[in-house]
Amino acid sequence: MSGEYTLGTWRGFTTYKCTLCEFDCMDKAQALEHYRAHFVKPPEPRDARPVTLAIDDSGHVVVAPPEPPEPEHAPAPKKRRKRKET
Ligand SMILES: [Zn+2]
Repeated sequence: MSGEYTLGTWRGFTTYKCTLCEFDCMDKAQALEHYRAHFVKPPEPRDARPVTLAIDDSGHVVVAPPEPPEPEHAPAPKKRRKRKET
């Protein structure tokens, strides 16, 4: 089965012409790669996090946003005054 391309010739070379558009080339692998690119779907988001459901005070189900990561309690960098010693 090959609906990916049609064979042709160009100046004695075998060409592989895409059946979906005007693309053609002389490399079979490239033609196949091009053809498959017509059907490439955007990758599914894989980092879909489970949603946390909560009920607020009025009884409504609310979706709790994911808690942000705890900020590191690093001491703020002390400001150093640069003074040019002459
Ligand atoms: Zn094409």
